[in-house]
Amino acid sequence: MQQDNAPELDALTRTLFERLDSGSGEASAQTKNTLRALYDAAAAADLTQPIVDFFSALKAAREQENASPASAGFGREDLAALAARHAAIDEHRVTVGGRVGRALEIRDAANARVDAYLAAKDVEAPSGIELWDRILENQARIKKALGMDEAAWNSFNGQLQYAINDVETLARCIDLPADAIRDVTRVTKSYRMRATPYYASLIMPGAANDPVLLQAVPTAEMVDTVGEEIPPVASDHSPARLVDQFYPRVVAVKVTNICAMYCTHCLRIAHIGSEDRTFPRAAYQEALDYIAKNERIRDVLITGGDAFMLSNTNLRWFLEKLDAIEHVRLKRLGTRVPVTTPQRVDAELLDILEGSNDRKPLRVVTQINTAQEITPVSREAFKRISGRVFAVLNQAVLLRGINDSKAKMWKLCETIQESYVRPYYIFNCSYRNPQYFHMRVPVEQGRDIVEGMYGNISGDAVPRYIAAAGGKIPLHRDNLVERGDGVVVLRKPWSGETTRYPDADPAAYADDTDFAFNKYGDGK
Ligand SMILES: *Cc1c(COP(=O)(O)O)cnc(C)c1O
Ligand code: SF4
Repeated sequence: MQQDNAPELDALTRTLFERLDSGSGEASAQTKNTLRALYDAAAAADLTQPIVDFFSALKAAREQENASPASAGFGREDLAALAARHAAIDEHRVTVGGRVGRALEIRDAANARVDAYLAAKDVEAPSGIELWDRILENQARIKKALGMDEAAWNSFNGQLQYAINDVETLARCIDLPADAIRDVTRVTKSYRMRATPYYASLIMPGAANDPVLLQAVPTAEMVDTVGEEIPPVASDHSPARLVDQFYPRVVAVKVTNICAMYCTHCLRIAHIGSEDRTFPRAAYQEALDYIAKNERIRDVLITGGDAFMLSNTNLRWFLEKLDAIEHVRLKRLGTRVPVTTPQRVDAELLDILEGSNDRKPLRVVTQINTAQEITPVSREAFKRISGRVFAVLNQAVLLRGINDSKAKMWKLCETIQESYVRPYYIFNCSYRNPQYFHMRVPVEQGRDIVEGMYGNISGDAVPRYIAAAGGKIPLHRDNLVERGDGVVVLRKPWSGETTRYPDADPAAYADDTDFAFNKYGDGK
């Protein structure tokens, strides 16, 4: 190959060469053979990778055998020519010194940050997709126990009709210790239990504290933990029938108190103690009138209970009325039904969602707390919904034993993202209700779990970590560690490393006179 007289080397390549040359030992015969073969390949191809492979092998020979390139028979000109070719081939002019001496090392150090997660994620937090064969076995067992046929299983009405509401039915579907059955019997005198057979099939037999079981079946703590219940903040924030308002421009309308399953950690736990109720149109109309009269309201959450528990007729009617209010610009539907009972997501519902979304953006906000809750069936439901609306967002609750480790929470966020759902919020479990004190996780623990996601999973899979306390308050660590002298010092959440970040000059920022077109005067 033609050699340049003296190809100029960049600083990173010179540094790499110095490192290689600092070896004082001799390469083994085997290493020499390997290097020779790699050199020939690098010299023959018009690609960067063979050159990178050769230099990586030189670097390994230096690190492992203290061998210099010269000891293996490679002169400086050979290396310089290859380095020049690398820089000439690479579209972004990355040099071999940059790639081998820096980028690959930085990449390896970054890789080490996720090793523990990658090793743990499928063991500690298998998804319902990975567990599907076992879930199918559970489904066969539960169908048989409940006498459900295939048609009933696959229909939303069938799932509701056969919902597990009492401990005897539960015990027929899931093996529970006798003590547990006694306690669930006691607790369900005060708190309602309901799980659709589909959701119950996500419970893995054999795990005492299965994360789906913990969410669906109330435990003794719910009645035994003493403490005063603090009434829901909503009682201070309900300016109109069905309406909750924390903010001037966003309101929530609680259109039903019904859910397809009742969560043991429900913030609206008061609903669990009460009966399913259908609300009259007059109530909806009053809520709509309130929204129509308050022109600041821009974004309306339709929630409950669960918005997908409304009939298609009521949902269509409500969305149409809302879309007709000029100042309402966006809507959200709050529902956990695609997770607990994906059979609800039928063609008619999808058409209603798309119809409303065509008028004004509609988001669906769901609640998925573990990767185990995502199955091929719920993934398909989310895929269909996400094809018809603006966005599908997830609000998870941080819960002890359910998602309170990096492996579990990161896996949740990645699994839902792969299922067309974007992580939005992670709530620290509320202090208001002694019924679920036992499920709370310290604020700090959640912060470590969420902060740890930065730089290690996709940015749009990183949710915001929130305390709900009369509005949603962010709990993230402040990464701005120092300020002064025109520079702020920022901490990289993924490595703890700090970096100096020159700030915009406040004086220049405040002075508008020469800004952009201002400098031309008024043109007269
Ligand atoms: C959660 C919630 C909102 C919306 O909050 P965002 O931060 O916009 O998601 C609005 N009103 C009530 C009552 C809520 O509970
Ligand atoms: S789906 Fe939501 S409202 Fe219904 S029980 Fe669960 S947390 Fe409560």
